[in-house]
Amino acid sequence: MYPKVQMFIAGEWTDGTSGKSEDILNPATGQPIGKTPHASRADLDRALEAAKAGFEVWRKTSPFDRYKLMRKAADIIRSRAAEIAPVMTMEQGKPVVEAQGETMLAGDLIDWFSEEARRAYGRIVPPRMGNVSQLVTKEPVGPVAAFTPWNFPINQAVRKISAALAAGCSIIVKGPEETPASCMELVRAYADAGIPPGVVQLVFGVPSEVSEYLIPHPIIRKISFTGSTAVGKHLAALAGLHMKRVTMELGGHAPAIVFADADLDNAAKVLSANKFRNAGQVCVSPTRFLVHESVYEPFVDKFVAAAKSLKVGNGLDKDTRMGPLANPRRVDAMEGLVSDAVQRGATVRTGGKRIGNEGFFFEPTVLTDVPRDARIMNEEPFGPLAPITSFRSYDEVVAEANRLPYGLAAYAYTTSTKTMQAIGADVESGMVSINHHGLALPEVPFGGIKDSGYGSEGGLEAIEGYLNTKFVTQASA
Ligand code: NAD
Repeated sequence: MYPKVQMFIAGEWTDGTSGKSEDILNPATGQPIGKTPHASRADLDRALEAAKAGFEVWRKTSPFDRYKLMRKAADIIRSRAAEIAPVMTMEQGKPVVEAQGETMLAGDLIDWFSEEARRAYGRIVPPRMGNVSQLVTKEPVGPVAAFTPWNFPINQAVRKISAALAAGCSIIVKGPEETPASCMELVRAYADAGIPPGVVQLVFGVPSEVSEYLIPHPIIRKISFTGSTAVGKHLAALAGLHMKRVTMELGGHAPAIVFADADLDNAAKVLSANKFRNAGQVCVSPTRFLVHESVYEPFVDKFVAAAKSLKVGNGLDKDTRMGPLANPRRVDAMEGLVSDAVQRGATVRTGGKRIGNEGFFFEPTVLTDVPRDARIMNEEPFGPLAPITSFRSYDEVVAEANRLPYGLAAYAYTTSTKTMQAIGADVESGMVSINHHGLALPEVPFGGIKDSGYGSEGGLEAIEGYLNTKFVTQASA
């Protein structure tokens, strides 16, 4: 059932020429299920030349024709969602219902970006002299190198591919080696829709080797990366050295604030569902739970009950609500964060341990009385850990929400309109979601500030990241 993984270079599916590959593990069993081929330098050179040629074709393809082809790719991926979802679950671990949702959302994202491709408007600036006309136009920035991670193998790639294509760019995606097949199926949807050779390409390899070759390469004009802040800073510095445009979607440590007047049932239900979605391996996952002291214990009780009720298991089982972590590194990280918090005085209300010896399972975990200097209060856990602490005043909770260098997502629950408006303005974050989980739709911006990166992966702003602005002024002869 798990497909053979190949790269897509210059319009052809290929194993590449390096002869090197790496094992793909099923996180539910820890067993190998396939191999990811690695690109050689010659493969990357071929992809670069094809991206250059593909760009010349695609930039001249009218936005209307781009739109038609992209809509076809969207229809193809939707029609294959039932087959792609279990493949994603086998390689990444998430419950098959989440994998299916991610695949269907890819169709929505492609649709939205394809439609916006037709609206990359310029403008006319009124001149100071009667014989002058001043035009502002938008042009595609050029061939793109994109680096996408393993937590959402399709979603992280489709946002970059579709925004780039909408703008008229070609794109080389260095996909996630640990979860390559579902990303490959996304690229296959574009291939089967008839994308011209070199416009969308997929390679795999040793991430640092591929990025250090592609980013400085003169053919590449724009970099887009999703992953950790540490790697993002390294790649942004490399891109800066070569004056390349960059979109960086990096780590987060989202505060989830529950005020005294919140609807506690709704807050516990929505926040717990989103904490444990994809086993917490989500950049916008609610992380620092800050609960007003007057409702602290009732909220903890409700949240713990929700965590305990989750059925953890193989994502292929229909009743599984949380799958394994995606790789053994995450299990080690969870153990380290829990033991550090406990040593510093935290209480484990539920969970706290890995489950069994097979696969990479970890219990949904709730920690209380967690001191500010515990690592989990400062480092992105990227796993199913919920540290809950209390606060007394509005000013105190805003200071805590803004304490870290991250600024990706923030959540708040309150029934006061005044508090909703104040928190929306006072939290330093690229996205703020109040009384519901409303992030990541195709049509709204998605991105962070501070150490969480810059640029957007959603909304009009995402396409803007792949466009240059050109000014043309002409005086009549
Ligand atoms: P990591 O930091 O080594 O890798 C994160 C991602 O960056 C992976 O996709 C990896 O392939 C890529 N990467 C690493 N070095 C690279 C390089 N030199 N050039 C190009 N790409 C490179 O660690 P990891 O164990 O895979 O993930 C751990 C941490 O990464 C998590 O704790 C989380 O903070 C972050 N992460 C964030 C996201 C996100 O959606 N923002 C996704 C995956 C991982």
